[in-house]
Amino acid sequence: MKHEGIHQQKYCLLCGAKFTMYREYQKYCSRYCRHRNWTINNKEKVNEYGRKYRTSENGKRVLVKHYASEKFKARIIAYQNTKGYKEYKKQYAISDWGRLKARQYTHNRKARIKANGGTFSAEEFVSIVEAFDYTCPCCKERFNLNELTPDHIVPLSKGGVNSIDNIQPLCLPCNIRKGVKTTNYLNVIAL
Ligand SMILES: [Zn+2]
Ligand SMILES: [Zn+2]
Repeated sequence: MKHEGIHQQKYCLLCGAKFTMYREYQKYCSRYCRHRNWTINNKEKVNEYGRKYRTSENGKRVLVKHYASEKFKARIIAYQNTKGYKEYKKQYAISDWGRLKARQYTHNRKARIKANGGTFSAEEFVSIVEAFDYTCPCCKERFNLNELTPDHIVPLSKGGVNSIDNIQPLCLPCNIRKGVKTTNYLNVIAL
């Protein structure tokens, strides 16, 4: 075989681009392709490195910042609107595993409500919504009654009671964003 040297033309083994060699026995067009090829052949090491980084103090900080960014939110919303994701959700919901998870979720929620105590009626919820003038106290936008969800100010998972004085009407996106944090928007709005 002919000796491969500097200035010879060659095709990158990874991306197939034509390049001029700047090193002997060069296989890839760029350091990027060389690195990409290494990551493909060393998936274990890459995953291990990622795991370590994500659990490190610095990694955690970077991730929290990333998850809170508008860019990340926009990407998630765009992804949720793709046909592929909608189809996946549909298939998941009717799959054995999806059904099991849904049952488990309902069961756990019921058990928590029972353990924490308290009940509230639909009428009570409607009167709270009216007091808020059909406005989500988090994003301050107006909604229809069926677009507002009862949110536990102190989450059930943190021992919050399932009674009307622990309930505030949030729109679904705000409710999801709130997660298991304890945020009382009732203080923010004048009733
Ligand atoms: Zn390349
Ligand atoms: Zn909202």
